[in-house]
Amino acid sequence: MKIAIIKELAAGERRVAGTPETVKKFKALGADVAVESGAGLNASIADADYAAAGGVVGDRAAAVAGADIILGVQAPDPATLAGAKPGAWIAAGFNPFGERGRVDAYAAAGLEALAMEFMPRITRAQSMDILSSQSNLSGYKAVLDAAAEYGKAFPMMMTAAGTVSAAKAFIMGVGVAGLQAIATARRLGAQVSATDVRSATREQIESLGAKPIFVESVKGIEGEGSGGYATEMSEEYQKAQAELISSHIAKQDIVITTALIPGRPAPRLITDAQIATMKPGSVIVDLAVEQGGNVEGAVAGEVVERHGVKIVGHRNVPSRLAADTSALFARNLYNFLSAFWDKEKNAPVLDEEIGNAIRLTQGGKVVSERLLG
Ligand code: NAD
Repeated sequence: MKIAIIKELAAGERRVAGTPETVKKFKALGADVAVESGAGLNASIADADYAAAGGVVGDRAAAVAGADIILGVQAPDPATLAGAKPGAWIAAGFNPFGERGRVDAYAAAGLEALAMEFMPRITRAQSMDILSSQSNLSGYKAVLDAAAEYGKAFPMMMTAAGTVSAAKAFIMGVGVAGLQAIATARRLGAQVSATDVRSATREQIESLGAKPIFVESVKGIEGEGSGGYATEMSEEYQKAQAELISSHIAKQDIVITTALIPGRPAPRLITDAQIATMKPGSVIVDLAVEQGGNVEGAVAGEVVERHGVKIVGHRNVPSRLAADTSALFARNLYNFLSAFWDKEKNAPVLDEEIGNAIRLTQGGKVVSERLLG
């Protein structure tokens, strides 16, 4: 069994899908591990660290040659994987809805694509969930990015020259990223409020010491929604939400938006007219900018200014904390493969529930129900 850790080639991608820690653990399972030279450099991991952990470091062709399983952060172009075993697994983030052409290319290449972002949201798969691990740190980083752009302090400060008032921060979308954003903004001393369409989040917001801001006139999503995710809201709900947000947002200094709906463009939560009511110098961070954006006027990869308000639209926020996000991503992959490791076969054997959820291609065909249905 040969596992390959390859260097990410996508522009701006600094993470790596394996670390010396996971190399050691895969070796302990009985696998050989090959690492493409330079794979970890942008995440502060030297080739020598992989070698010391038992990895065989070489160029891409050598790393991929005869590989049974290839690990990536963003799925590579299959043309760069020539030499892998027929039917080899590629476990990575595939962005299957956004990059459908690449999924077809994997089928044509006879490779088995495993989309880690399709991991079901069940308790036993929590430790394998790349969306959670990466979102968690993105929520943290979003608040730091906001603080860096904001020309004032977050905490209330009493100084000899007078008092500095606390920043008011509003978090929209309280999933994994939003919860971490609330906690981080609180730690920095901001007065924090938050909103979501899922009513279950109200208690979570309160337990972190923030104020819940909820639409009361129209019912939101009860329970956990579909598989833990939000769905698109009715027009009536969207209207009530827009009214609620309009009155609240004008008083905010910092707004962090994190709302996503899988397979759909991100919901529009803030309009240009609402931004115009905010105080100059306020900062909005749109974590959904690459999925179409929650904020009107947000531009992926840029910090733009509208009505004196800065709108931050960094791409690939997890990559901005590459050492930590790589460590967690690599553990997610190890937790996944080791959970299914068959000692006799010296290879992982997936069960139906997880295998069917994450497998995009097999036997030369696209097999994912979420893509076909
Ligand atoms: P996400 O990234 O899909 O979306 C972010 C948040 O935006 C969600 O809370 C969503 O409800 C909210 N949202 C969507 N549309 C909105 C709108 N119009 N207005 C306001 N908010 C809106 O969410 P996530 O971080 O992936 O988490 C979703 C849920 O899944 C959470 O309850 C989380 O705890 C759960 N979860 C479970 C597991 C597991 O059991 N393995 C793993 C990860 C997450």
